[in-house]
Amino acid sequence: MIVLKTNRELALMREACRISAGALKVAGEAVQPGVTTEEIDKIAYDYIKKNGGEPNFLNLYGFPATACISINQEVIHGIPSKKRKIEEGDIVSIDLGAKLEGYNGDNAATFAAGKISPEAQRLIDTTRESLYEGIKMAVVGGRIGDIGHAVQSYCEKRGYGVVREFVGHGIGKKLHEEPSVPNFGTPGRGVRLMPGMTLAIEPMINEGSKNVRTLSDEWTVVTSDGKLSAHFEHTVAITVDGPKILTVL
Ligand code: MG
Repeated sequence: MIVLKTNRELALMREACRISAGALKVAGEAVQPGVTTEEIDKIAYDYIKKNGGEPNFLNLYGFPATACISINQEVIHGIPSKKRKIEEGDIVSIDLGAKLEGYNGDNAATFAAGKISPEAQRLIDTTRESLYEGIKMAVVGGRIGDIGHAVQSYCEKRGYGVVREFVGHGIGKKLHEEPSVPNFGTPGRGVRLMPGMTLAIEPMINEGSKNVRTLSDEWTVVTSDGKLSAHFEHTVAITVDGPKILTVL
């Protein structure tokens, strides 16, 4: 079932999303060589709590942390650890969210640790740009397939692989609601977009093959060819005035 939100609910979601965006910002600013992923996770946790929210990834499906932190060939769902130190040249994807007054925010971005290769920078830039290409299509009367097609064509044109097994999602009182929001699709196909729908749009884009596998920790998803992956995400509301990005400060 797709839950359409009232204006009052959108206002509540906006506040949850504002905290999510702030937490992602401070976590991203902490990314540098020598810092552990656990330290970054703690910064995100503290920010969310200080602002009155709850980290909504923590314990969800048994996930043990506030943020998913995924480095280089890791695509998503990396588990923060005091043993995992960020190194110069790494690219670090952070995905996190906050819950406030019963409503959820969710966002992600990939950050550079120190000086990264031009190839890594190009992957990060393309993935971020593809998110905004997708968001442009989140309009009343459009279809879910329009969003996925926009992301997919933007990235594939540039030679990248678009992950199929993991997708964006509706979001609201629950972190994961219907509908699924794939980063691939056919224009004019899929669920019709309506005012009050709130979607987490989140391209996961690989430098090489689109194929991924899950490590034996049963969480960390990596590229099958060991090449880099990047991830950007916003929570977006579909309104009669166009798409509204909720996960901004
Ligand atoms: Mg998400």
